[in-house]
Amino acid sequence: MKITEVKAVYPDYRNVVPSWRTHFWQIVVRIETDQGIVGVGYGGGGVAAVEVVNKHFRELLLDKEIATTQDIKEAWDHLYSASLPYGRKGIAIMALSGVDLALWDLLGKAENCPVYELIGDRKKDSVRSYATGTDVEWYAELGFTAHKFPHRWVSDNDISTAIVTADKARNLLGPKALIMIDTYMSWSFDITLEMSKSLKEFDIYWFEDVINPDDLAAQAELRSLVKPTLIAGGEHEFTEYGYQEIARTKALGLWQPDITWCGGLTSGIRITEMGNALDIPVVPHRGGEVWGLHLIVSSTCDNLAEVLPGTKGGNKDELWIGEPHPVNGYISPTDGPGFGVTVNEALLP
Ligand SMILES: [Mg+2]
Repeated sequence: MKITEVKAVYPDYRNVVPSWRTHFWQIVVRIETDQGIVGVGYGGGGVAAVEVVNKHFRELLLDKEIATTQDIKEAWDHLYSASLPYGRKGIAIMALSGVDLALWDLLGKAENCPVYELIGDRKKDSVRSYATGTDVEWYAELGFTAHKFPHRWVSDNDISTAIVTADKARNLLGPKALIMIDTYMSWSFDITLEMSKSLKEFDIYWFEDVINPDDLAAQAELRSLVKPTLIAGGEHEFTEYGYQEIARTKALGLWQPDITWCGGLTSGIRITEMGNALDIPVVPHRGGEVWGLHLIVSSTCDNLAEVLPGTKGGNKDELWIGEPHPVNGYISPTDGPGFGVTVNEALLP
């Protein structure tokens, strides 16, 4: 089938996720074909990425034939090369991610199969999910056995706030639960060491994004100093080229590519293969959303998917209709064609 139209939009979000980050600047990309099949994808980069898709990628994609996963990979390489002078990372690759995911959705619909079947043999029926957010009482009620809480370093009191939060999570979720901390780059080398000592009894599975993600050498050094806790990260890295640097410097003990930012599923597959070859677990950022979930079930990603339930009674925009939700802490993609979701047109401009 031939591509006849490509359009990105920034949704008209009404409710922000009642969580530690208000939104992810996510865009929707829609690709139409001469056979009437439409693919829809999700990218990052906000209104700037919308411009990249509509003013640059669109003209490069019109009239292209998409019939195989190889065609998608070639389209990816073409857009990557064309945007290279201003791209390689950040907004251009977040825009490319939305296009790539729309192409995978398109191909799944054309073949009448879920995207996970296009990736390979399904290896996991359902995936253990972990709840990121602040309402741990509710996550325990919902049956989660894995949880990540946000922790921002503001003052010296924050060693004790971390202890109190970790203690509460461990008490509510039990001794076998996985408990992780995301610092969103607010700790430092020394604070990470101090936290490692102060939180020892709570058996934290990973510390995420502890410092500036460009400081690969310091993160590599921290890995052995905070064992057995892992130094995790990668949501701010892009494509297999970016991950090659993480691999070369041994900066991270657990990789977290965001499939809607890192270059889409095409990059997600390449990054996962690279991580596996090095025995590094790969746990996609927001992996409980369909874009990551299809990769997790059909690849050697760890059996762990991030979801953001928010807080009990909080409102959320339902941008994707037909999205799977975790049940008793486990989540599974639907077997509908493509990614198995449709976009809620009421939230599009
Ligand atoms: Mg994070």
